[in-house]
Amino acid sequence: MADPNAVTNQAPPLDGVNFFTQDVGLGDALRPYADLQKDPGLVQIGELAGSPEALSQALPANQNPPVLRTHDRYGNRVDEVDFHPAWHWLMEKAVGFGLQAAPWTSSQPSPHLTRAAGFYVWSQVEPGHGCPISMTYAAVPALRADERLAAEWVPQLASTEYDVRRLPAAAKRGVLAGMGMTEKQGGSDVRANQTTATPSGDGYLLNGHKWFCSAPQVDVFLVLAQAPDGLSCFVVPRVLADGNRNTFALQRLKDKLGNRSNASSEVEFHNTIGHRLGDEGAGVRTIIEMVAATRLDCVLGSAALQRRALVEAVWHTKHRAAFGGLLADKPAMQNVLADLAIESEAATALAMRLAAAMDASVAGDERAAAFRRIALPLAKFWVSKRTSFMVAEALECLGGNGFVEESGLPLLFRESPLNSIWEGSGNVNALDVLRALRRPESLEAWLLEVGAAQGADHRLDAAVHDVLQALSDIEGAEAGARRLAAKMALCLQASLLVQHSTPAVADAFVGSRLAGDWGGVFGTLARTTPFQEIVERTIG
Ligand SMILES: Cc1cc2nc3c(=O)[nH]c(=O)nc-3n(C[C@H](O)[C@H](O)[C@H](O)COP(=O)(O)OP(=O)(O)OC[C@H]3O[C@@H](n4cnc5c(N)ncnc54)[C@H](O)[C@@H]3O)c2cc1C
Repeated sequence: MADPNAVTNQAPPLDGVNFFTQDVGLGDALRPYADLQKDPGLVQIGELAGSPEALSQALPANQNPPVLRTHDRYGNRVDEVDFHPAWHWLMEKAVGFGLQAAPWTSSQPSPHLTRAAGFYVWSQVEPGHGCPISMTYAAVPALRADERLAAEWVPQLASTEYDVRRLPAAAKRGVLAGMGMTEKQGGSDVRANQTTATPSGDGYLLNGHKWFCSAPQVDVFLVLAQAPDGLSCFVVPRVLADGNRNTFALQRLKDKLGNRSNASSEVEFHNTIGHRLGDEGAGVRTIIEMVAATRLDCVLGSAALQRRALVEAVWHTKHRAAFGGLLADKPAMQNVLADLAIESEAATALAMRLAAAMDASVAGDERAAAFRRIALPLAKFWVSKRTSFMVAEALECLGGNGFVEESGLPLLFRESPLNSIWEGSGNVNALDVLRALRRPESLEAWLLEVGAAQGADHRLDAAVHDVLQALSDIEGAEAGARRLAAKMALCLQASLLVQHSTPAVADAFVGSRLAGDWGGVFGTLARTTPFQEIVERTIG
């Protein structure tokens, strides 16, 4: 009789994979911009990310979500959030690796690209804690609108020490940032914000609420509120310089589909002290710098989800047999895996291209700035939109095991729609592409980018031509915004793969995504595709 306790034909735990050095697609995506293949920091992040110690943190951090503590035992408001130790472990590592605001004060070459690669690799361990890390990274370009406020906050935001003490910023070894824009009556349309800001002394008093305010435990927030001259941006510290708490009344924590390790709160302001950042009435223009940087992280975070899901799918199918052979050797499964792999490589390539453009635009390259202006909403729209489909298919590669929490795939799946919602939902980003196109330099930047691959693949050339045709009439084109954004993003991805990936990947991507040789679900690449060659790149 078979022993029911004997375990056979189950994949071993994913172990011993360096998430940086063994990611061949990432190597190809980085190589055109910087020589990072042996970067000691990235190698170290990759090694820890693939270790059992790191991979064991994700489930406890998400299965023990943060708990709101509004009052102390005596009835005083404290507005604190308590986290599982796994959350703090993840945060300490991410901050220690300099994945938050460190690149802004770094003297290393390509600091934003290096940080992007690190963020992408480390996010594969657990996505939720990326939220405060991203917001801290993104707050800096907005803070630079005011020299004094930047001098006060940036060094602390860039510190690689994780310090959770509720102290004035000056007394801390490092601080983290958040943002408050969304209110009950409107998130996309922030002009509808009702929170008021009344001048008082050398600052302002804020009154009102925010309907979504993630990571409310952090030290400082950029908040939008209506000042006498219109919607403005404010720097709101949790603790004031004299040590007293600023009023930051946490009403509830959201009970969310995914992203459960991270706290997302509803907050009320009652004469809360804020310092104006940028001019009165220039709130959107000021905070848009933060939004743009968080959009980059939405692309990186989505690419990371795709990559982790792909690795799990390939790992499982290489160790699991059915019908007399390994699943990874079955032609129908090879088609699925190769299709997932090209999706993931395309996402990674575009994410790293955007990060390289960040370095260039910070250094004053105006063409890179124009490229970011159009490519960020394109990429945010497309890459995050593709992620749910991609992760769902990767999950299915594990069969029933993929539907079970212990596999880690449900966590990735529940997280997968999020990057498409926050920092501008799908339609908002697609419409933002139309807005960018009103500036000739944005279209020029896109054309220059896809033009770098001109002549290499006639199907890509034809797709670019189609986009230009569609652009000849964009007046009243809102209903077609997603279609246009999708096509422009696909051209960008294809052009990057044609230039920098292996011909097998580029050919499969262009043939399926641009030339119509695809069935609309994963696993419908042309039968002539060299599936194995593509899949073997996954864990190099
Ligand atoms: C987990 C989580 C954490 C968050 N954390 C924060 C945070 O820390 N700080 C913060 O400020 N916000 C945060 N948000 C809020 C988030 O940024 C908003 O939910 C998002 O911007 C959309 O706003 P909304 O929810 O008000 O939806 P709405 O603005 O009502 O949009 C609803 C739908 O309508 C679409 N839409 C909007 N305008 C148009 C248009 N003109 N044409 C066509 N379609 C349109 C949108 O794309 C969307 O699909 C968080 C959200 C989530 C889910």
